[in-house]
Amino acid sequence: MTNPTFKIPRIETPRFWLSNFGKVQAYLHTKLARGRLERIGFSSLSYPIHAVEYANKGKTPLMVVGGTHGHEPGGVAAVMNLVNLMERGVDLDGWPHPELCRLLDQVHLHLIPILNPDGRVVCPDSFYGLPTEAVKVYSCGLKKDGSLIPYEAGSDDPLYYFDPNDAIFMGGQFNGAGYAINRRTSPDDFSAVEVRHLVEYLKGRGVQGLFDLHACGSNIAVMPRSHEPPYWPIAREWQKRAEALFESKSRPLSPMHGDGDPPKPLTHHFNSSVVHKHAQLFWLACEGRQGYAGHPNFMPIPTEWEIIDDYLAEIAVFLELGIEGLYAKANQAVFGPKRQAAGAKRGRTKR
Ligand SMILES: [Zn+2]
Repeated sequence: MTNPTFKIPRIETPRFWLSNFGKVQAYLHTKLARGRLERIGFSSLSYPIHAVEYANKGKTPLMVVGGTHGHEPGGVAAVMNLVNLMERGVDLDGWPHPELCRLLDQVHLHLIPILNPDGRVVCPDSFYGLPTEAVKVYSCGLKKDGSLIPYEAGSDDPLYYFDPNDAIFMGGQFNGAGYAINRRTSPDDFSAVEVRHLVEYLKGRGVQGLFDLHACGSNIAVMPRSHEPPYWPIAREWQKRAEALFESKSRPLSPMHGDGDPPKPLTHHFNSSVVHKHAQLFWLACEGRQGYAGHPNFMPIPTEWEIIDDYLAEIAVFLELGIEGLYAKANQAVFGPKRQAAGAKRGRTKR
């Protein structure tokens, strides 16, 4: 539980950078005309988790998720720009995106702006222009003695849980109950209630692909290594097209993390393992930029808009491959024809 004496700095952000939990909630409850809002459940600290659905009969059902990690606000803002494009035909800064909108018209879209509200509310709205050392405090959280909760990002033996009673606050890598929000001990690990709600929401909706927005600080997609071989060429096709698109914008995109021949085996599981298995869909995770200052790894320093636009470009490629039926084909090959039938039947719950 967050210590009430610990004050999270409030950082001013441009209007297109809509990442603050309260402001996102306010938008969703007052500005949706086309989208159908559904509360898919509550976080471990009882914050509501929302999905917005743009039904489009007969079109490919796809999902984009932001805010898995609380300290990665750009993904939230990217999803909210998608919401605004669907509602008003322009981004949150008032600009049209004809090519992206053409793709959005061809899908049945499900959006989750903030999967992990517990993590989002303990982090500033942006880390733009700050050193990476600053984000560590908010990504890890603080132990009672003031030191960082040892999240050990690169470790093969990572921290899955930390007792919140021993913390001043849990960082954006965790939910409020102390579970690492994107580290699973197995493909059947539902310890994070938020992930359980996501899978429950997906059940029976026939969603073919899910795009999960993160922000390690650089643009880099992650090979879905928990997925069966039919999915690997799809991830590589995404990479190929995204590389061409980023090249045309003169922006950096790293080679796909974890790829190889075969892709490097997983050392531990992520939400992708759980959701892929239980919702029978293709999952692609993408990392984005943060605008960190003070380290050559994060050069060139992007503008705030470029960070959001990078996500929109990545999403466009994700939509394109879904529209072309690549995810559906691989899902059928792996899970069989019943996979499709499951999408037809499902009762709807109220918001
Ligand atoms: Zn992340």
